[in-house]
Amino acid sequence: MKYEKFFQDRLGELKTEGRYRVFADLERQAGAFPYARNYQPDGKVVDVAVWCSNDYLAMGLNPVVIDAMVEAVKTCGAGAGGTRNIAGTNHYHVLLERELADWNQKEAALLFTSGYVANQTTLSTLGAQIPGMVVFSDELNHNSMIEGIRHGRSDKHVWKHNDVKDLDRLLSEYPKDQPKMVAFESVYSMDGDIAPMADVCDVAERHGAMTYCDEVHACGMYGLQGSGVAERDGVLDRITIIQGTMAKAIGVVGGYIAGSAAMVDFVRSFGQGFIFSTSPPPGVAAAALASIRYLRSHNEMRERHQERAATLKKRLAKLGLPVLPSVSHIVPIMVGNAALCKQASDELLFRHNIYVQPINYPTVPKGTERLRITPTPLHDDAMMDKLVDALGDVWQRLGIRKDLAAA
Ligand SMILES: *Cc1c(COP(=O)(O)O)cnc(C)c1O
Repeated sequence: MKYEKFFQDRLGELKTEGRYRVFADLERQAGAFPYARNYQPDGKVVDVAVWCSNDYLAMGLNPVVIDAMVEAVKTCGAGAGGTRNIAGTNHYHVLLERELADWNQKEAALLFTSGYVANQTTLSTLGAQIPGMVVFSDELNHNSMIEGIRHGRSDKHVWKHNDVKDLDRLLSEYPKDQPKMVAFESVYSMDGDIAPMADVCDVAERHGAMTYCDEVHACGMYGLQGSGVAERDGVLDRITIIQGTMAKAIGVVGGYIAGSAAMVDFVRSFGQGFIFSTSPPPGVAAAALASIRYLRSHNEMRERHQERAATLKKRLAKLGLPVLPSVSHIVPIMVGNAALCKQASDELLFRHNIYVQPINYPTVPKGTERLRITPTPLHDDAMMDKLVDALGDVWQRLGIRKDLAAA
């Protein structure tokens, strides 16, 4: 086989379809969020305003978090030195797991190297180990949940997105005492909609099912102490397993689950993605710990965050741009074509020094390509003026349709 030709041909197909991914070469600026230096393909270095970061509350550049990381690196060194079982459990890991359990009002919590690994390991372990397990997965669940469920090789069903009637119908096909897991997300990060948490719990409880909720796009941002939508909606005690990341609003890196002591101990003891991978560096754990403690006592950041998102949605709608009806902090604008979406992103970047990356297939279905904007508490009115003007200019210049929001 001509291997090189194979690789090049397949990449060529992506380029023809307009969905070949080009990474912006950015250098984040601590102290100047949301601005970053962009190392352009032409060799120039230009300051750009970033409007698509998942560091939703700028905690990754917060001095409290940076100081905690620097101090831990100086005292404990750069790496953890092993897996959790082999000399790699640092005291910061223990403190962080306690904090995560307390934050989520659960008995215990477990750290993973990423949110992806947390989903993949937990769902595959429970799916494979619990005899007769059936998993019920929301159709828009993240790839990491799908891979975990697939890897668990249990029976599974996909329920219509956020449709508890459909979930109820599928659950009804099994006897109540059969082991079941309902897997879903709270905030869906591409559309910005939110699961009907209490309704999902009602249905799951009626059928004797466990609940598994991915709060990756909600932890740090919803609820008085910010642990997520389950806290906001008062259903934390009804969710069997809360899963989250420390890479988005917490601003660092790493994943976690929180739940009963026995369930967490079970995943700790049987989960291969936990057992066989070196634990996160102590500095990472210390930074995440400092970030969570800060987030718990700064609800005003969450209020400001929601205000910024609501204001941007209103201003874009006024301009007639096709903003999806998001009820969260995420502001998606529909473009509906991969090449056009990439072009719109390029125009914003090179003409207006604004960075919003294109969202294309397979992240979203074909025909629903979009720009996904994530305002933070630090995006002020003047920055928003520039963004709104730039988007208006790009939509007009490229002749992008404005009637796709309902699609
Ligand atoms: C980003 C993401 C993950 C993965 O989390 P990482 O910590 O980035 O690995 C899991 N679930 C959802 C819904 C996500 O968007």
